[in-house]
Amino acid sequence: MDKRRTLAMKRLPPNFPIIWRGEVGYEQARVGRVFNYRRPSRYPIAVVEATTEDDIVEAVGLANEIGCRVSVRSGGHSWAVWSTGILRASPSNTGRLTNKLLGAYGRMFPGGHCPEVALGGFLLQGGMGWNCKNWGWACERVLGVDVVTADGRKLHCDKDENTDLYWAARGAGPGFPAIVTRFYLQTIPAFSRMRSSAYIYEKKDYRKAMEWILRVAPIYDESTEIVAVASYPAGLSDVHVMVLLVTFKNSAEEALAALQPAEDTAPPGCVQRWFCRETSLAKEYDDQHAANPMSYRYCTDNCYVKNDADVVSVLEDAFTSLPSRKSFSLWYSMAPGSRRSVEAGTMQDMALSMQTDHYFATYSIWEDEADDAKCRDWVANIFKRVERHSEGSYLGDADFQVRRTRFWQDEQGKKLMRIRKEWDPHGRIAGYLDVGDKSGAEGLENVHEWEPK
Ligand SMILES: Cc1cc2nc3c(=O)[nH]c(=O)nc-3n(C[C@H](O)[C@H](O)[C@H](O)COP(=O)(O)OP(=O)(O)OC[C@H]3O[C@@H](n4cnc5c(N)ncnc54)[C@H](O)[C@@H]3O)c2cc1C
Repeated sequence: MDKRRTLAMKRLPPNFPIIWRGEVGYEQARVGRVFNYRRPSRYPIAVVEATTEDDIVEAVGLANEIGCRVSVRSGGHSWAVWSTGILRASPSNTGRLTNKLLGAYGRMFPGGHCPEVALGGFLLQGGMGWNCKNWGWACERVLGVDVVTADGRKLHCDKDENTDLYWAARGAGPGFPAIVTRFYLQTIPAFSRMRSSAYIYEKKDYRKAMEWILRVAPIYDESTEIVAVASYPAGLSDVHVMVLLVTFKNSAEEALAALQPAEDTAPPGCVQRWFCRETSLAKEYDDQHAANPMSYRYCTDNCYVKNDADVVSVLEDAFTSLPSRKSFSLWYSMAPGSRRSVEAGTMQDMALSMQTDHYFATYSIWEDEADDAKCRDWVANIFKRVERHSEGSYLGDADFQVRRTRFWQDEQGKKLMRIRKEWDPHGRIAGYLDVGDKSGAEGLENVHEWEPK
């Protein structure tokens, strides 16, 4: 038997939830909750299915004793007690579950758009949740976190205690140098009247659709999120561009008033459209689930396109050519929230510090392994051209093994790597999985790879 396993058997309490490589159930534990069916060929020596904080303390203690690293999973999507509106939530709670529970109390939390994304990875990366352009980043509603540190201690972190870990927990992503066991979240009132409008154009009308929405979005109603998506809509044989507006209101009149300006200004020529259609969080989650089907192979990348770029031209290829019928590209309006700043006192001081008015991401989705190269190359080629017009990227849709870029402003990136090193000097928490898995305690360089250093 492996020496490390013998040591573990001596140390661990009976019935500790650990599954060793080679044991029955190992493969399910390794990738069972992993969303992307393009499975990694990385095989941890064991998987701990922790159900209590003490399980995590024990697992980290064991890792320190036998010299292993720990990597953490909440929802596998890398890709509750209420009184004052504060939710204490486990990192493995998904967005849908969280909002189902909160709905009963007339509250909501603007978690990820995809229902099965869990709070853990999502909030640590910043969290581009519902109506992010107006309500801000989901991590801005994190009031505190409980963690198990890399040396196995339980701590609470907030604006008064362990402030550097609290700072890092809002934007460090997978490089957060501890394991979060609980989030304390500020919820918001739920909305009883959600409505949406959509305008779908042929790809020949891409430019006029994008020019329109780029003009309108930054000054649009503040309860309305806006996205433009290129995809193959059901029943249509070519790539189309859909502009979708989802508004969160409490009366039908308010919703109508919010969506009317888009209805009045949308360029003519859409092949399909709807106006002020009744919707709900549950329905939007179902639509997102359908757009991101399970059991497929995925390759994604993203960037924040510079505010002064010719956005329509920069995104044209990504929006008018897609490698497969399931694939899609999106532009997500981030303004006016993206114009807030720490200096002006309109944004919190936290690790998350990268954003522009234009979030662009593409999701290549396919079924057959034989199409891996074609679908991956398509994404790589798009980003070879687009990345030069970008300020940086969002951790949530990134892969550090594929492309090196900036994820934080320079100062915040340096501070984060310093905190990472202080709290996890031996790189016990797996961290940023870069090429060759070398980044360790040092973390990421936070530079564009095409720029001279
Ligand atoms: C279909 C789909 C839709 C998505 N939609 C959105 C969206 O609308 N908005 C958005 O912002 N993002 C979105 N994402 C990206 C998503 O937020 C990230 O992939 C996020 O990391 C997923 O979190 P998770 O906990 O489910 O994933 P996991 O794979 O479990 O976690 C990702 C990483 O976070 C770290 N981590 C997780 N839990 C902990 C913890 N408790 N303590 C310490 N570190 C931890 C680990 O390093 C882990 O490797 C989407 C992803 C998918 C696949």
